[in-house]
Amino acid sequence: MSLKRRSIKPALYVGAAIGAAIGVRETLGRRRDRSIAGKTVLVTGASRGLGLALTRELITEGCTVAICARDQAELDAARTELETLAGKDAVVAIQCDVTDREQVDDMVEEGTRRLGGIDVLINNAGSITVGPAQKTTEEDIARSLDLILWGSVHATFAVVPQMRQRGDGQIVTIASFGGKMAVPHLLPYSTAKFAAVGFSSGLRSELAKDGIAVTTVCPGELKSGSFTQALFKGKRDEEYRWFALGASAPWTMSAERTAKRILTGIRRREADVTFPWKISAAAAINGIAPNLTAAALRLMDRGLPGYEGTDDGIEGGALIAERRGRVWDAATTLGRKAAKDLHNDRPGPDVSATTPTNGVMDERTMGGG
Ligand code: NDP
Repeated sequence: MSLKRRSIKPALYVGAAIGAAIGVRETLGRRRDRSIAGKTVLVTGASRGLGLALTRELITEGCTVAICARDQAELDAARTELETLAGKDAVVAIQCDVTDREQVDDMVEEGTRRLGGIDVLINNAGSITVGPAQKTTEEDIARSLDLILWGSVHATFAVVPQMRQRGDGQIVTIASFGGKMAVPHLLPYSTAKFAAVGFSSGLRSELAKDGIAVTTVCPGELKSGSFTQALFKGKRDEEYRWFALGASAPWTMSAERTAKRILTGIRRREADVTFPWKISAAAAINGIAPNLTAAALRLMDRGLPGYEGTDDGIEGGALIAERRGRVWDAATTLGRKAAKDLHNDRPGPDVSATTPTNGVMDERTMGGG
């Protein structure tokens, strides 16, 4: 039998099984819904993007929140906006770089004191580097691991003792579809998201006996406007084009819808929140027919920009956007609207702002440069 025929049959079974599983989950899940009104929640990376959308929803549900990010001016802007929902002085905003363990310990201590304890931690801070593996340095991978894996580890280790003492709590990690299936040209991101999924899923069974629920969230692409903040390598303009178009497409989930789905997962204390259904299906097919998805991803890679003749530069999305014209503005209207709503219409990131702490500092690539 050809690889194609052997692979399609299990994929159909998986599709049917996923449909049935989603139906059962929805029916049972509704019964397990419990209110989170009155809970205290710490959200990392909530000055903009999905973290900000999540915080808006948490406040609407009656939670008291603390948020953190590195940029003080952006934190202040987020807090000012959130206080129109929560009330004056009702939002705690703490400047913190989650890659730094001492800063995280101080932030958790301050958040705990000002909120009177942390019931729910949401590990959301993240960023993305887009480009071919051949242009990826060891430092790119270390930087992603520092933020996405170690940022979550530091915050989790800091809050678990108080949750264990109370015999209650919840740790939510915003991973990604990229932590279930390694999409080409996102190698540092996938490496770190797979690690974050492993950390979060591994914690779940062992913290259950302490009364702590652990939820791993793997959304597909969403309109958070963060393509302005992403970093690009290789053929940077072309890389930016495919990535920003995907993040602006009409069928890409809104951050608001994503946040609402995540809150449902939190209320139900779900183990794994992977959505939308196309993403769940792709992840399941990848688990059952990995050779099929490997072939599809190889095809996808061929459709992405090459790396020949490119320099080793790295550039933020907002800078690349400045070089593009009106037609481009029209094609990314929805993405730019989301960026404005979620405070992502700002200059791009300072590439030198984070330095990997694990000692990997060189610019070695697989191309030998
Ligand atoms: P944004 O770039 O819009 O927001 C990132 C937030 O994290 C900002 O508040 C930023 O503030 C903060 N942050 C970044 N680095 C640090 C740091 N070292 N310490 C503390 N805070 C930091 O990203 P998104 O909203 O798009 O993404 C949020 C999460 O959702 C990420 O984990 C991402 O991987 C995940 N996700 C996103 C998807 C998407 O399509 N956008 C899809 C699936 C998952 P500051 O820079 O000031 O520190």
